[in-house]
Amino acid sequence: MNMLIIGIRGSGKGTQAKLLAEKMGIPHVSTGEICRGTDQSTELGMKVRKYMDKGILVPDDLVTQLLKHRLSQEDCKNGVVLEGYPRNRDQAEIIKEFLSFDKVLSLTISDEEVFNRLAGRVFCTNKKCEAIFNTLTEPKPKRGGICDKCGSPLAPRKDITEEVVKRDIARYHEEADPLVDYYKQEGLLIEINGEQPIEDVHEEILQKLGLH
Ligand SMILES: [Zn+2]
Repeated sequence: MNMLIIGIRGSGKGTQAKLLAEKMGIPHVSTGEICRGTDQSTELGMKVRKYMDKGILVPDDLVTQLLKHRLSQEDCKNGVVLEGYPRNRDQAEIIKEFLSFDKVLSLTISDEEVFNRLAGRVFCTNKKCEAIFNTLTEPKPKRGGICDKCGSPLAPRKDITEEVVKRDIARYHEEADPLVDYYKQEGLLIEINGEQPIEDVHEEILQKLGLH
């Protein structure tokens, strides 16, 4: 069985992909992890590294090469849980050439909840602690701007401003909404409520896939 999980950053898609892969006994394949883990002694690896260092999305032809290579490995022969690709309709056409999905799971979550999860994050400033809290949703720090674990001050990350989060949400809809519609038309889509606690989201996935 080949599964695809679609969801916005902050929806918990990585966590759910891992849990599902474990349950099904097939590998969790994340294009993000593949790109970060490329062998930099190869020409392909060096190319990928260049894009990632600049914070630019790795082009489709490179991701396709890496993905094809990963999928050709022995452990993928019974299927995979793929996450991170395709992100849009064009990429869905590319991937169709070499991988067909049995089911596509879309984690739905309101824009407001995504905004709270991403924009509310505050990080412990103590490098040895690195605990993460959230001022807008759980886990909230018990004492305002102070880390529960070590008592150091908490601070937001400078590169994750409210504007950046809003822009990311808008961009996600632009790309992913047509992708979700496409898989709905293909009869493959299963919608999952992504606003529940991690365990409950996992349960809903197993139930809807008939894996209980
Ligand atoms: Zn701390």
